[in-house]
Amino acid sequence: MKRIPVIAGNWKMNTGIDDAVKLVKTMLPDLEKFSSVEKVVCPPFVSLDAVKKALKESSVKLGAQNLFYEDKGAYTGEVAPPMLAGLCEYVIIGHSERRQYFGETDEIVDKKLKAAIKNGLKPIFCIGEKLEENESGKTELVLLRQLLVCSDHANFSNGIIIAYEPVWAIGTGRAATAAQAEKTIAYIRRVVTEQQGGDIGGAVRILYGGSVTAANIAELMKQLDIDGALVGGASLKVDDFVSIARQASEIKK
Ligand code: PEP
Repeated sequence: MKRIPVIAGNWKMNTGIDDAVKLVKTMLPDLEKFSSVEKVVCPPFVSLDAVKKALKESSVKLGAQNLFYEDKGAYTGEVAPPMLAGLCEYVIIGHSERRQYFGETDEIVDKKLKAAIKNGLKPIFCIGEKLEENESGKTELVLLRQLLVCSDHANFSNGIIIAYEPVWAIGTGRAATAAQAEKTIAYIRRVVTEQQGGDIGGAVRILYGGSVTAANIAELMKQLDIDGALVGGASLKVDDFVSIARQASEIKK
């Protein structure tokens, strides 16, 4: 089954409005050339509107980095799904930094997935094991738990993208090898297939994330089950992000 590859940039808590617009405008002419890959940028909330205007009529898509699961109410500082609907197409949910620093549990992630889908937003659903879980051979168990808590309610036919992001690889410069990432992503696809059927398992796009660079993207993209990358640090560097998108587009042509 043909799956359109995705290269998504998670800008995390970087760039104010002016810098965000400058960054995206600098990348845009090159990113536009790579038509066989879907490109997504996820700036901080405050820059979404300005970046949306900068992206007008381009093929580059916009994503948010988080949302809250209630539609409205007394939740100071939170952003509701209906506020994002119409503003962006994607939303990152369950990023390990949210799980680690903001106490997001699988149950909260599940509510966020459902809220995003209800509001027509496409989740980039992040899962991944910690270093000690990896070293004690619990990777598949952890991923299964993360997938099962959420997959009961969030049907993967609704445009969900899964991002496999081993926590030990995020921001560390220590990416998983292409073989490691492929083995784990193939496992995730098997779980989705068992849970939701072959059509959905074969169609769902699964990205790798964790210290992706212009130097390691090619090997990752050559793997059968890896459909792209969620890129953190390198997505803030124009030449690197453009090179990552270019290589992904050429390899998956
Ligand atoms: C991320 O933020 O999702 C990520 C993978 O970060 P980095 O590429 O910097 O490791």
